[in-house]
Amino acid sequence: MSIAENIAVIRQKIDAAARETGRTGADITLVGASKMNDAAACRQAIAAGIDVLGENRVQEMTAKLAENAYDGAPLHFIGHLQRNKVKQVVGKVAIIESVGSTELLQEIEKQAAKLELVQDVLLEVNIGGEEAKSGFAPEALHEAAEFARTLPHIRVRGLMTIPPVETEPHENMVHFRKVHALYVDINAKIYDNEMEYISMGMSGDFEDAIRAGSNMVRVGTAIFGQRYYTK
Ligand SMILES: *Cc1c(COP(=O)(O)O)cnc(C)c1O
Repeated sequence: MSIAENIAVIRQKIDAAARETGRTGADITLVGASKMNDAAACRQAIAAGIDVLGENRVQEMTAKLAENAYDGAPLHFIGHLQRNKVKQVVGKVAIIESVGSTELLQEIEKQAAKLELVQDVLLEVNIGGEEAKSGFAPEALHEAAEFARTLPHIRVRGLMTIPPVETEPHENMVHFRKVHALYVDINAKIYDNEMEYISMGMSGDFEDAIRAGSNMVRVGTAIFGQRYYTK
């Protein structure tokens, strides 16, 4: 299957899941998680109408930006971001989806102010409370959102999550529903319902994420094929 064929199949599945919740595929943003795929693969995805491409690693993204890999589609940063690499990302991407600490918010504010721009971000929620994962604890999210709102060079557009890996089918729904509830609550209480994006769901679970209210899914393997980490 080609990248274009994979995207067509995923679009159909997205549309079907969205219709179960009174929406359609047009309401869901499809982010192609293109890590470890080259500029040619990114261009194929863009030609096939992907909405957004998402990158995880700053070095890889910088190299592919230099090859114009993302021309024609917005780019999101979706990976773990170290503070010392923030300046390589701010202003280069439409949205930084993976903002999971106050320190990171402060550094993004600093770099965006230097460039005199407003950086769009999503707040990442560590919904499973996993120690190895980044993201705000659910209990800390309100305070983080309040703090982010005071930063003039940051605009919070929504929430993002990578839930714990569950072995039972549909177990993920529990996490997705919790994040959706947080999204609705924070959006109403802190953001006058101006947040737009709830980014959750990957190759294995994007349909469940959409059923639970996601409107942005990040899909890698199901579009680009298996990644090989051995090189
Ligand atoms: C790689 C990645 C994805 C996509 O994962 P697949 O299982 O390959 O679809 C989504 N989100 C993030 C943050 C990723 O790093």
